[in-house]
Amino acid sequence: MSDVTLYSILYIEINIFSVILVVIVQLKTLGLSKMVAQRHFSMSMVSLIMFILSDMMWVVTRNNFLPYSPALILLYKDIYFFSASLMCYFWFVYFEYLQDSPFVANRRRVWVSSIFVWVQLALIITNHFTPMLYYLDEDDRYHRGLLFVSLYVFSYVYVMFTCSRALVGFFDPSKKDQRRKLIKLALFPVFPAIGGLFQYVIPSIPVLCITLAIAVLSLYLDWAEELISVDPLTKLNNRKQLLFLYDQWTKSSDDHEPLFVLMVDADKFKSINDTYGHIEGDIALKRIAEAMKLGTFRWKDKVNLSRYGGDEFVIMAKGITDEDASEIRNKVTENLKELNKKAASPYDVCVSIGIAKVDSSEGLSFSDVAEIADEELYMQKKARRK
Ligand code: GH3
Ligand code: MG
Repeated sequence: MSDVTLYSILYIEINIFSVILVVIVQLKTLGLSKMVAQRHFSMSMVSLIMFILSDMMWVVTRNNFLPYSPALILLYKDIYFFSASLMCYFWFVYFEYLQDSPFVANRRRVWVSSIFVWVQLALIITNHFTPMLYYLDEDDRYHRGLLFVSLYVFSYVYVMFTCSRALVGFFDPSKKDQRRKLIKLALFPVFPAIGGLFQYVIPSIPVLCITLAIAVLSLYLDWAEELISVDPLTKLNNRKQLLFLYDQWTKSSDDHEPLFVLMVDADKFKSINDTYGHIEGDIALKRIAEAMKLGTFRWKDKVNLSRYGGDEFVIMAKGITDEDASEIRNKVTENLKELNKKAASPYDVCVSIGIAKVDSSEGLSFSDVAEIADEELYMQKKARRK
């Protein structure tokens, strides 16, 4: 086999592998959520598949695996660059949604921001009459034109914008609890950018497609991890993750430090739901979660916050003292009072909190421990009702 044939086969293999990765992610995420953001994620996947396939077809046709045609060669380049800008645009919108950006609250703005995609398309069409981006010479050799770099500019501008916003958000103290997500979004383009730069300098090695596919896969894995372990309403750990952490903390501990479990339950929560509706009830639950975050901030490396179910929450802490546990209880209650004041809603949310102290050698299950904490919790509730 000639070197060209071997090279083409390698190129095709890498691209097919990348497409398979992206198709798997696309199929796995279809229908996962009805959110608008999901549609943009899905469209960016479709654009990425178009991008990789047009790249592959270009090599296949250029190296005479398929009947050669200059028109086809240019068409594949057109699709390649147009899908690149579409993909970046959809990522931009998707990332803005993930960051709860005010930008995407306005649909007209989302539309207007697609301007660079249309500029890119206009440039690509014009290129057929006045080649300034790329062209084939009389010997059918491919060349980059004067404005070639603009193809990258009109695509990357989207990613740069949204990732810079994520980076700024990372350093914003008011977004402290979103730091993990923000840094992942900010760093998302780094790996593909290295691939893109590499391919810009050495166009014959298809690293961009594979780095893009891997970046998408890692985005999906993060998302899947969140779906498995996070409560979608409050963004605290869900019950499954809580039980997993409890098992880990009790079974794998060799330090014999006691574990504190604080059961938190909203008082008369049903009446908030009944009087003001479920949506208001959801807002109240988020307020409790916020109070838990604020109230435990001082011990943030030692505590884990979870939603146990309904209006019940759990604060699990290790490496703290009995006094710390009581202080956490007071601080959560105080913070909730503050948040009630700030919210100025027609109701106040209050919680009762029971504490259980566990020694890992006792071998208690989580429900045993919850029962112990519940005893104190119900005593508090009873006392308040009097
Ligand atoms: P108590 O003071 O004894 O705790 O009384 P309570 O009214 O809080 O009673 P309970 O804890 O049994 O009520 C929990 C209620 O929480 C019942 C259920 O309708 C409601 N609930 C459970 N999950 C959700 C949710 O995700 N959103 C909303 N809005 N309500 C929920
Ligand atoms: Mg309750």
